[in-house]
Amino acid sequence: MSSPLLDQLHLATLPPEAQAFRAEVRQFLATEMPELPADVRARSWMGFDAAFSRRLAARGWVGVTLPREYGGAALDAFSRFVLVEELLAAGAPVAGHWIADRQSGPLILKYGTAAQKDFYLPRICAGEAFFCIGMSEPNAGSDLASVGSRATPADGGGWRLNGRKIWTTNAQNCQYMIALVRSSGTAEDRHQGLSQFIVDLSLPGVTIRPIRDLAGDAHFSEVFFDDVALPPEALIGQEGSGWEQVTAELAFERSGPERLYSSIVLLDRWLTVLRASGQAARHAAVLGRFATHLSVLRNLSIAVTAQLASGQSPVIAAALVKDIGTEFEQAVPALIEAALGADPEEALDAELQRACAYVSQVAPTYSLRGGTREILRGMIARGLGLR
Ligand SMILES: Cc1cc2nc3c(=O)[nH]c(=O)nc-3n(C[C@H](O)[C@H](O)[C@H](O)COP(=O)(O)OP(=O)(O)OC[C@H]3O[C@@H](n4cnc5c(N)ncnc54)[C@H](O)[C@@H]3O)c2cc1C
Repeated sequence: MSSPLLDQLHLATLPPEAQAFRAEVRQFLATEMPELPADVRARSWMGFDAAFSRRLAARGWVGVTLPREYGGAALDAFSRFVLVEELLAAGAPVAGHWIADRQSGPLILKYGTAAQKDFYLPRICAGEAFFCIGMSEPNAGSDLASVGSRATPADGGGWRLNGRKIWTTNAQNCQYMIALVRSSGTAEDRHQGLSQFIVDLSLPGVTIRPIRDLAGDAHFSEVFFDDVALPPEALIGQEGSGWEQVTAELAFERSGPERLYSSIVLLDRWLTVLRASGQAARHAAVLGRFATHLSVLRNLSIAVTAQLASGQSPVIAAALVKDIGTEFEQAVPALIEAALGADPEEALDAELQRACAYVSQVAPTYSLRGGTREILRGMIARGLGLR
């Protein structure tokens, strides 16, 4: 059967250099990863640890795909896949540099002026500049085209920024936000008149209010802009081209191993406990399901990585990986909880129980952050030629 979406996904394997790189990453993690229990490691990409991010940067692995002239490691998308896979499997606290490495750095490289690249990229690679993404707003979540925050041209150059962003991951720990705002026209113009700005979060008029989640953590924030004076060079890319820029950026956000491994520390802990108690065979059906689901997903994610590596922007294929990936990530805590509940006589491992409680509480967010399930499925249907 021929399908416009599935035909894009050719079976791809990680090249030998990327596999060899894996050993280096594991060695680094063996010495540099703090000793942490599974429930803390399960936070991984919510885990903010600036000192860890800087150690990773000092090893050359923040801004891994950025050119050497800016302090990057100039590695390809496959090596980044391996790095991210290993960091998440270990439960490393990656929140600090995460978004700058994955999205903001590549975005600035693609659309930034020479001065913007010279200023921001070396700071990203040194682990000194952390970025957050300002897309969502209270009345514009999935419907990004209706963002209402507005940058108005200021007398004498520059812009005045007013509005409010919400659910901004890590804003409270970041120096910069890349904000999608309206810079011309009206909200009815939908995809026109949107632009991206690099907002220095220390500017007067910026207020950041952390939001506490169900698990008691505050990993995202509300961000208010009250007549913030932005210099002309805060604009990134073309005025009015924000929609196209954001769409390309989302391919980076949605396709990687980040969308497969959010529950992996929990799964690993369960396996450790089952091995120690000799009970693994009793759960063969669930374990087999996890193994097959993950291996197919991983192959899909590598196929999308191959497209990124060849310079394409696989927006719809990335949506497919994210949708199926979050289904797996959400099945892990649900099925482990069911297995534990089915064995009420078995002594519970406290670390496993805490990790399971945490992952179960946050798992609903996996299919919201980065684009909701319903929106992704609409894109996939379009990619399959069904809409
Ligand atoms: C943990 C977490 C971290 C996040 N981090 C960030 C971040 O760093 N930066 C950022 O900008 N945002 C972030 N978000 C926001 C996230 O991207 C939004 O929550 C998401 O885009 C959905 O927007 P909303 O919550 O306003 O829901 P809404 O858009 O109001 O949607 C509510 C429900 O309606 C459905 N729906 C909406 N429109 C349609 C449609 N046309 N067809 C079918 N169904 C539809 C949605 O799928 C959803 O189920 C984060 C969210 C979470 C949970």
